[in-house]
Amino acid sequence: MSTQEQRRLIVISGAGLSADSGLETFRAKDGTWANHSIDQVCNIMTWKANFTLVHGFYNKRREALKGVEPNAMHRLLARWQTELGAVLITQNIDDLLERAGAERVLHLHGFLPQMRCEACGQITDIGYRAWDPEQDRCGCGCRKGMKPNVVFFGEQAPAYVDMARALRGLSANDVFVVIGTDGAVVPVGSIAATLPCRKVLNTLGPVDPADWRPGMVASALFNRTLYKPAVQAVDELDAIVRRWLSEAAPN
Ligand SMILES: [Zn+2]
Repeated sequence: MSTQEQRRLIVISGAGLSADSGLETFRAKDGTWANHSIDQVCNIMTWKANFTLVHGFYNKRREALKGVEPNAMHRLLARWQTELGAVLITQNIDDLLERAGAERVLHLHGFLPQMRCEACGQITDIGYRAWDPEQDRCGCGCRKGMKPNVVFFGEQAPAYVDMARALRGLSANDVFVVIGTDGAVVPVGSIAATLPCRKVLNTLGPVDPADWRPGMVASALFNRTLYKPAVQAVDELDAIVRRWLSEAAPN
């Protein structure tokens, strides 16, 4: 009989988690984010041509992040990490899980409070402060290679390898939780389909069949679905996960 300590809990979260804290959702249907074209401010091919615009944009994102607080779901996930050893994987670039108390978060798409130097690879924590694209430099002296430590479109996401490692070898008694993402970017639907464990999904609602593409989530891929805002799903999700971790999966 396996003990609870041996069971693994993996959580993948997306924009819906932080939306309840008031952060704007990254992918709007019209292809803009906070009135900027995503291609202007989040594309590895164009960012250097738009250097000032890009830094101004992420400066505003950091300013917005400074003004919001973790919500009850961030706090639940941090508690799961402390009490249940949960592995927290997120598509979000904000630090709200960390501010809720999580110590180890795998950020698939980078981390807004950091800059990365393309010349030397150094990562610099800048918190919520504005980066001055004319004056500020890396410790190595580089100015034009200083990029928000955020994965742009057209850029490799090295943390995907770490995610694959975290998902390896799950078994029937383990638990997989998806919160606030429909799988349009990271194909969590396909991932869920391959995992032999119990799975629960919390998003606002089912993906419109007209918008559904392979890789996206679907009710049939999960044992349970909680279609409601993340902050309204906290107690129910906590109960489901703790129950699953304490009882053996049905054969
Ligand atoms: Zn450097």
